[in-house]
Amino acid sequence: MRFSDIIGNKEVINALRQMADSGRVPHAILFYENDGCGAFALATAFVQYLNCRDHRDADSCGECPSCRQMSKLIHPDLHFVFPVNKGPKSSDDKPTSESYIKYWRELACSNPYFTEADLQKAIGIESKNGLIAVAEARNLLTKLSLSSVSDGYKAVIFYLPEKMNQETANRLLKLVEEPPEKTLFLFITHSPENVLQTIFSRCQSIRVMPLSKEEKARVRAMVPAQEDQEMTAFMDIFSDVMTSLISGDLLGAYESMENISAGESREKQKAFCIFVSDCLRNIFLLQQNLHQLVCLPDENMTEFFKKTASACSNAFCRKVFPELDKAVALIDRNVSSKIVFTDLVNRMFVSIK
Ligand SMILES: [Zn+2]
Repeated sequence: MRFSDIIGNKEVINALRQMADSGRVPHAILFYENDGCGAFALATAFVQYLNCRDHRDADSCGECPSCRQMSKLIHPDLHFVFPVNKGPKSSDDKPTSESYIKYWRELACSNPYFTEADLQKAIGIESKNGLIAVAEARNLLTKLSLSSVSDGYKAVIFYLPEKMNQETANRLLKLVEEPPEKTLFLFITHSPENVLQTIFSRCQSIRVMPLSKEEKARVRAMVPAQEDQEMTAFMDIFSDVMTSLISGDLLGAYESMENISAGESREKQKAFCIFVSDCLRNIFLLQQNLHQLVCLPDENMTEFFKKTASACSNAFCRKVFPELDKAVALIDRNVSSKIVFTDLVNRMFVSIK
């Protein structure tokens, strides 16, 4: 991936290029993105640029042996850590990222803007929580103790550090604090508040900006059609629930919500909560008259969001955001999804006017 292939986030690209050109590369960077906004693309383009020996037009060349290996994500000095669990695509009893690396590469090469749900699906653990276990830290210690193959930077792209437990973090800490020379940790998080403080405090943070309407359309052009279908289904449920709530039809809202609370996997239910958070963000921005920050794919949807924003109280989004986080946490803890979503609808109902 070259910088010029990246959609949006020009300021982040400039900052990364400046770090590389000045030789002042922090040994740990934490990219904070909204799911699917391109932090992975930025991180890989950065490592490719650092290790390219033939820069062209302020970018990596894309043709040297290092660039070719980087673009296929098979460079021997490029390592990946991501949340995993046991599943049908690996026979390992205690799987690590290595167990699923083939599927990770397939996904990330075909769609560098993949989301957390895309990853779960790609490695076949849709119905489970992905975790970063201590074995992962052990593997990394071994890999990073080997000398660099190419004399360039060794890099670890660490996807969703919020999914690692304290034990894993303890193991990693020394490595992150005092990494071997020319070793780089690139963390990608969707919820920086859940990254263990010991790790967070040792990173330089970079905010990856949400994509504009036009940029999202360009990203969508590479996303498999299946994702679009899921988003359409989520949008249908959300608009039915909101329409019922606005008209005071609590029973109708329960019924619409059953489309997600009954029979769907926990990962899909969590993805729906995240989807609703994004929708509420749009409603909130519209209520604040920040129309220019709202990115919606078509006129119908824009119309729906405008109508909803004017029908909801100004406190609605502020009150419901924490409830969505809570719902995700409860689903994670295996609480009955029927109870979680009924409670969510109740809370939305009392906050809407
Ligand atoms: Zn190159």
